[in-house]
Amino acid sequence: MTPVPVEAGAGAHTRLGSRLAVVLALLAVVPLLVGGTVIGLIAPTHARSVAAGAATRDADAAVVALAGHCDAVRAGNRVAAGEVAAFATRNDGAVTREAAQIFADRAAARRPGSAVAVFDPDARLIAGAGPARARGVVTSIAPQEPQGQEVLEESAPSCSAGRVGTTGDVAGLAEISPVLINPAGSTARVRVATVVTWSPLDEAALTVLRTRLGASGRLAVLTPAGPPVVLASSGDPVEDEGADLPTARLLRQLPPTGSGAAEGVGYALTAPGPGLPYRLLATTATGHGVLALIGWILVAAALIGPAVLWLVLMRVTRPVADELSAAGEELLTGRVALADSLDRFGEALAHTHDLNELLGTVTGTTLAATEAAAVAVLLVADEVDPPVPAALAAARGPAGRRASDQSGRREGDRLSVRSEVGRADPQGEEARAALPALAEQHYASFIGNPQTSQAFTEPAVSERPGAGPVAAIGIGVDALPVESPAERGRGRRRPVGVLVVARGEGGETFDALHLTRLRALASQTGTAVTNIRRYLEVRRLSMTDTLTGLGNRAQLVSSLSREIAAASRGNGVLTVLMLDIDHFKMVNDTWGHGFGDIVLRDFAARLLACVREADTVTRYGGEEFVVLLRDTDADGGCRVAERVLVAARSHPFEDADVSQPVTVSIGVAAYPRDGRSADDVLQAADSALYAAKRDGRNRWRVAEPSHNAPIVSLPG
Ligand code: GH3
Ligand code: MG
Ligand code: MG
Repeated sequence: MTPVPVEAGAGAHTRLGSRLAVVLALLAVVPLLVGGTVIGLIAPTHARSVAAGAATRDADAAVVALAGHCDAVRAGNRVAAGEVAAFATRNDGAVTREAAQIFADRAAARRPGSAVAVFDPDARLIAGAGPARARGVVTSIAPQEPQGQEVLEESAPSCSAGRVGTTGDVAGLAEISPVLINPAGSTARVRVATVVTWSPLDEAALTVLRTRLGASGRLAVLTPAGPPVVLASSGDPVEDEGADLPTARLLRQLPPTGSGAAEGVGYALTAPGPGLPYRLLATTATGHGVLALIGWILVAAALIGPAVLWLVLMRVTRPVADELSAAGEELLTGRVALADSLDRFGEALAHTHDLNELLGTVTGTTLAATEAAAVAVLLVADEVDPPVPAALAAARGPAGRRASDQSGRREGDRLSVRSEVGRADPQGEEARAALPALAEQHYASFIGNPQTSQAFTEPAVSERPGAGPVAAIGIGVDALPVESPAERGRGRRRPVGVLVVARGEGGETFDALHLTRLRALASQTGTAVTNIRRYLEVRRLSMTDTLTGLGNRAQLVSSLSREIAAASRGNGVLTVLMLDIDHFKMVNDTWGHGFGDIVLRDFAARLLACVREADTVTRYGGEEFVVLLRDTDADGGCRVAERVLVAARSHPFEDADVSQPVTVSIGVAAYPRDGRSADDVLQAADSALYAAKRDGRNRWRVAEPSHNAPIVSLPG
């Protein structure tokens, strides 16, 4: 048979891996791709709006904090004004430069970085204190002319007055407090001086502010109107160095107020208001877009993922795929073995006429097909060999025997052939040892079963000690034409044996598939046995003389050749008697052909009675017979010849009307004395027969050694 190509394991596992990868890609990678893209696109917008929100919160907080700063400056300035007023009251309303300078110094010391200036009622500077730059700013702030008592009281100068920050590029908050006293004896209040405090909103102040606010971004103070000029800013000095460039570039793009995101930052820009005369810019970095980065990483993972996944799956699935592939190959090997076995079985069914060969094939095939631990087949040869027709057996008389050879084991009057095989393990051996008895038992129960036909179709399943699960099924044969109507009447098929399989102790029971195979194998075996029986019958008929039931000339040639071959191997001897009835033509002519036939049959029976079972008696042709005497030399042959002569003439041949004495002439020749081949021995016997005829008939003659092959010892 053609072996089925085994698919390469690698190919199978690659396909499996690819399919898994596709499934996982659809389940995991596609959502990753979609999710990553969405996050990647939305995250920057989100980050910008988050940063803008943070900047707005920073700006609002800064406005509030600066209002507080303003209050502190105002409080300090009022304290200084109060001190000047107290001095003026004591000094008749006069404020000296020396005193003014003392109070200015004191006030400036209370607020480091700030500058304090004192003006006389005519707005002339009489004292100044604080850092030089701040002092320059504070002295440039002209005190306002008071419009009246109430006005002076209520419009106390404050940071919110909006009169500050216009001096160059320096931002700060100023407080202006008039010093008012009641001169002695008067209820009217007069201004005797003006105190001004200026506190710079420089980088240091803003940094402190930012720290206090916990602001995440930067703050910048811008000129209240006109082109934006950064007056002060908090933040990284390095970044700010020359750079107010980013801020300047940013400011060019921005509306006067509002919030949003640009240039990688979120911003908030406040308008000048009552609390603060400047615009404030708060910025917060939008960050590095971590979320967006994550989104794009997910997208990348989704794109690279399938390849990685595929590689991983290759590693993970390879062992599984290899295992599957190995199991597949094992299964295939098993199938191929079974198919081979079935092929050989079919071959054996079709061609073998050898029962033992058939048994070997049946057991081997059954073992493979049923996965049994042991198998036994039993065939009962009396049933297997075609029986001799009853009429013929009667003609042979009590001494009638079969012409066919038999081999096997005789038990009582039954000849059976049997074969067992088993697996080469303890379980198989134990089961095999238990099977012969089981086979006999099952055969007996099939024979005794009136529903025998069921035995061929339904395996009997049981559990037996030593054999484990057992299944047995009958083997049946079809009746042959030569069999008697009574034999044929026993059913279309009748049992000739049994096929038994065992799983061994602890084995699993046979499943439906195995029982089906067992049934098919038993049925096929029955068919094969039927074929063998037909073959044997045809062969027997072809070698049998129908008149006498003896073997014919073909049988003689076959038997003689075989016996000579056997004798030559074992230094054996054998002797041939060639017989010819005397004046048989006369018998026919006198009493008719029918009586001649009776003489021939009677003579055959007398001949059989004169020889042993092991000897072969054949009708050579016409009224000539040949007897083959095994293990018999020429002398022994002569004694048998004498016995035959006596048997022939002992009493006449007769039927109801006729009684006719008949004699016979016999030629005796022996192997190897008179020839080394079948032809030579027969030739020598024929010559001896001729001599007997010539010498007067009714006698035997032995071959003349001198006329035949020299007698030599045989090799070996
Ligand atoms: P001899 O003593 O020399 O052997 O003489 P014979 O008459 O026996 O020999 P022959 O060969 O002349 O005659 C043989 C006869 O046997 C001739 C033939 O008709 C007869 N015969 C051959 N076969 C059969 C048979 O099957 N049945 C019958 N009845 N006669 C047969
Ligand atoms: Mg003759
Ligand atoms: Mg004759």
